Amino acid sequence: MDMTLPVQTVRTTCPYCGVGCGVTATVRPGSIPIIAGDKQHSASQGRLCVKGAALGETLDLDGRLLYPTLRTDDGMRRASWDEALGRIAKGFADIIAAHGPDAVALYVSGQLLTEDYYVANKFMKGYVGSANIDTNSRLCMSSSVAGHKRAFGEDLVPGCYEDFELADLIVLVGSNTAWCHPTLFQRILRAKEARPSLRIVAIDPRRTATCELADIHLPIKPGTDVWLFNGLLSYLARQGTLDAAFVAAHTDGFEQALAAADVDCSDPAQVARTCRVDLGQLLAFYDAFAATSKVVTAYSQGVNQSSSGTDKVNAIINCHLATGRIGKPGMGPFSLTGQPNAMGGREVGGLANMLTAHMDLDNPVQRDAVKAFWNAPRIAAKPGLKAVDLFRAVEEGTVKAVWIIATNPLVSLPDADQVRRALDKCELVVVSDIVGATDTTVYADVLLPALGWGEKDGTVTNSERCISRQRAFLPAPGEARADWWALCEVARRMGFTGFDYEGAHEIFDEHAQLSGWRNGEGGAGLRVFDIAGMTGLGRQAYDALEPVQWPVPAGDHRGTRRLFADGRFAHASGRARFVATPPRLPVHAVDDDYPLSLNTGRLRDQWHTMTRTGKSPRLANHAPEPFIDLHPNDALLCGVREGELARVTSRWGAMVARVSHSGGIARGCVFVPIHWSGQTASDARVGAIVNPAVDPVSGEPEFKHTPVRVEPFVVEWQAFVLSRTALAVDRVANWTRVQGEGFVRYELGGRGPAHADWARDVLKVSGETDWIEYDDAGAGVYRAAHLVEGRLQACVFVARRGAALPPRQWLAGLFAQETLAPRDRATLLAGRAPQQGPDPGPTVCSCFGVGRNTICAAIRAQALTTTAQVTACLKAGGNCGSCVPEIGKLLVLMKSEETAGGR
Ligand code: SF4
Repeated sequence: MDMTLPVQTVRTTCPYCGVGCGVTATVRPGSIPIIAGDKQHSASQGRLCVKGAALGETLDLDGRLLYPTLRTDDGMRRASWDEALGRIAKGFADIIAAHGPDAVALYVSGQLLTEDYYVANKFMKGYVGSANIDTNSRLCMSSSVAGHKRAFGEDLVPGCYEDFELADLIVLVGSNTAWCHPTLFQRILRAKEARPSLRIVAIDPRRTATCELADIHLPIKPGTDVWLFNGLLSYLARQGTLDAAFVAAHTDGFEQALAAADVDCSDPAQVARTCRVDLGQLLAFYDAFAATSKVVTAYSQGVNQSSSGTDKVNAIINCHLATGRIGKPGMGPFSLTGQPNAMGGREVGGLANMLTAHMDLDNPVQRDAVKAFWNAPRIAAKPGLKAVDLFRAVEEGTVKAVWIIATNPLVSLPDADQVRRALDKCELVVVSDIVGATDTTVYADVLLPALGWGEKDGTVTNSERCISRQRAFLPAPGEARADWWALCEVARRMGFTGFDYEGAHEIFDEHAQLSGWRNGEGGAGLRVFDIAGMTGLGRQAYDALEPVQWPVPAGDHRGTRRLFADGRFAHASGRARFVATPPRLPVHAVDDDYPLSLNTGRLRDQWHTMTRTGKSPRLANHAPEPFIDLHPNDALLCGVREGELARVTSRWGAMVARVSHSGGIARGCVFVPIHWSGQTASDARVGAIVNPAVDPVSGEPEFKHTPVRVEPFVVEWQAFVLSRTALAVDRVANWTRVQGEGFVRYELGGRGPAHADWARDVLKVSGETDWIEYDDAGAGVYRAAHLVEGRLQACVFVARRGAALPPRQWLAGLFAQETLAPRDRATLLAGRAPQQGPDPGPTVCSCFGVGRNTICAAIRAQALTTTAQVTACLKAGGNCGSCVPEIGKLLVLMKSEETAGGR
């Protein structure tokens, strides 16, 4: 490495959630890039959450896929790019020739940059001639897309993040904003601190970290959101708080929507019973909404991931249209997107039922316009298969080749074992990824090495329509190449023209041109998505591009903060449409066999299937194991205990994880996080048990409700292993794995003997070695440690129950010692230092490594009452702020314990 190279700071964008925070990466030859928030980025103003702040810990090349590989009769072998691309091109061409264009498919991702997405879409819809390209964004926001199109005539988010600061009432529906969009939530909290009259209402079946800081929490029964918002519409009408002039001048369909709402939802008491919320709290929310003109209603996966997700979106939008609260500062419905570029994917038509540049597959004039612009030989004539249907078609054999890019459907799709069956049968499976071993890459016939964050170059669009540059600051490792490049190379080999791009800037330029192409002409209609003002940038101007919110029409335009300020919408009439939303329950009801409702979601410190965030030990400390969160009374009925293993079973599959009681789960509900895969746990892929019911309009799956039952997962012993090297632990009944600082941590559950022979076998230790152990067979306790030249190499602790195992914290710290101190060696098998203070507990503040027990002890000892006091005392919460809601929750908990104790 040339150490004389200058230090360089590159401005880029975080690759995780849809907030789209600006990041600076300072690259110094020979050291890890320093990651910080970009103060110049309008979305985040220099702030990053704990995931963004830990990006520097995820950049190593461990596990990276560095060159193409091909399946042969003898397994996978390394291949040249030319050979791999040739295999894909021939495979696709042969299948198309024999079975037609709909026999091939692409399944892509909201992790792709807009330029990759654009080329993938052009390849399939314009040249292959099929719309069989869908994306994992189908799983998180397609209901919002469909709801926007029905209401506004185009997939448009009306507002911007500043509206959260200007609002007097923020309603967060199905959104754990504190964990899933942390810097935006911090912005809300700062606004509330400055202006305490700002009220927050959280609507969520779970009492999440977000709800802790809300003024009102409505813990609605899963799937009843439409009743709640229909009830609100009906209430607003009866209270006379509608904006009749706005409704008359700018909308259609109000009477029908109100009539539909009135059928079941005109009586708040009945709504409260249906939604299972307190009537007083419900009316407090309705009154607050009625009395406040500056209202932002933000919603996320809790709304979208439902078999009535599109209706939920429209029920919310109906209330904003009825009150005219849209398009003005501090008000409007707001879809918070999950992924970094879910919006960019929508702009280029990355969903199977969209064309590109917000044009429609079922509009012949728009189809012709796109075909002419692309100079394409053909154009897809009908919508393609949506994600769940796509993999069904693969299993049925009608789709015979699938190219999966930047996503892991074997973990993330509902009924995920169906995806396994599908890929197992598929004639040609191509996977482009940055990671060599995922649950999905196992099924690849061709595996292509992609560029990761830090190596990629292009643009992303966040939840507020802000287009930002992701800039490369690291060289491409091995033979990894951009996804758009691989797609173009296959297209060329299939004889397609129009794929000769010199770089991402040329693709962006074409995308920008297409957005203005015949925009507003005759039957092609007027499209709000227009970034024609960004055409002709050239490489240099593209590299220097500052964040800008679309539309950016031709001319000297600086972007658009809010849409619909003039009351004009994108339907041909120029008017918005109310949508009648008769409420309906989830497709699959709970019953005697499956009496609990499973909800799935994200954790604060992890992202998707942990291929990147899983590399950071400090992120892992927040939740080192998969868990099943349920109410203690339900746990009692199911015969399971906190801290022990349990199996969750649905009609589609089963999984195993540890029982936990967060205190935020209502009776009858269960929550399981989405992050664990077959690479990090033996049986914790929650996708395998999620039902495949989908919304009939959007095709989005029902991740927030699956009927399940919970029962004990019986093991004879539990154990943990800390080891400097990765181990094969697959012969135990249950295992999970997480990265620690200098070691890998395994949590095991097993049956049969677990003593010296077993331990030596697991730790791969043989012959004479520095091996210390303690065995009390009568008590079921076994402990051993392996040292190499005085350095702790691995240790294993076994007990009959998980609660009898020592805390991992001190032992983990021993891996930092080059030679174990004699005192630590003597007490190693006790699992804790002789004079050790209390166990700090699970990490709450990842930035400063402060545990739950430490925070509780400080609150108790020093009578702390505010999060600011906790921060002043322990630093916790003083950096990124992601843990502030959890600290708030602990303050409330300690106060209620104190009150109970004082009675
Ligand atoms: Fe990344 Fe966190 Fe910002 Fe989301 S909130 S974009 S995960 S830094």
